[in-house]
Amino acid sequence: MKKYNYKDCKVCGKLFSPNTGNQKYCKKCGQEIKTEKHNVRALSYYYRNKENILLKMKNSKTTKTKPEQEQENKIKRSKNKKTRKTYLKEHEKEVDELFNKLVS
Ligand SMILES: [Zn+2]
Repeated sequence: MKKYNYKDCKVCGKLFSPNTGNQKYCKKCGQEIKTEKHNVRALSYYYRNKENILLKMKNSKTTKTKPEQEQENKIKRSKNKKTRKTYLKEHEKEVDELFNKLVS
């Protein structure tokens, strides 16, 4: 196995012997950074897909209480509302023209 020169860990500054040429951290800090990176990725995934994940978690329950079902329907409805609003905003001119045609 190739021996690499000792390096200073970029986090704790401790001297360590790297296993690969581009290793920047000692074993301990490398592990921590790996965990942190994983957590950041998991968290960002969570925030991006929060609604879906929460819905999935709800759906995974064998029985749903009525308020839960209602809450879910509410979310679905508000989503549709938003989509429709955005669509109307984006196609405002076309909708206006269509409306004018229908009226005249
Ligand atoms: Zn370190």
